[in-house]
Amino acid sequence: MTSLVHMETSLSSKMTDSWELDLIKLSQEAMGKAYCPYSKFPVGSALLTTDGKVFTGCNVENACNYLGLCAERVAVNKAVSEGYHNFKAIAVCSEMVDTYITPCGGCRQVLLEFGQTWIVLMSKPDLSYEKRTVVDLIPLPFVSRAMSKYVQKDNSE
Ligand SMILES: [Zn+2]
Repeated sequence: MTSLVHMETSLSSKMTDSWELDLIKLSQEAMGKAYCPYSKFPVGSALLTTDGKVFTGCNVENACNYLGLCAERVAVNKAVSEGYHNFKAIAVCSEMVDTYITPCGGCRQVLLEFGQTWIVLMSKPDLSYEKRTVVDLIPLPFVSRAMSKYVQKDNSE
């Protein structure tokens, strides 16, 4: 909790025109906390809300492989559990120097849950990055309004 407050403060105080780089740097700090004894592939993320708060994440693996969580979903879950649903951008980083880290398919769907047009910054360790919107990464999106058309009305309504 303390570190989160620190992260929020540090971003807003450092916020400049280069907020995208600031967000990537915060994702790199979060990557240092990755728990990845199985893959040995640390990933970090930093999620910026529309009102300027930052929630960071790292991958958290488990001996039961499918229980592991990606850095992006850790950040989203932290934000949502604190009452934040409106996001401006998420930065994602890894140690790969020759290619930008990209969210996995599952994370793309999770990001999509909170809007189609916010920004995903996929970075390299040298702070270079590829900038896309969520829907760029998951075209032909499956969203709740697609489902609601077919959901049966509850008789009590
Ligand atoms: Zn993922």
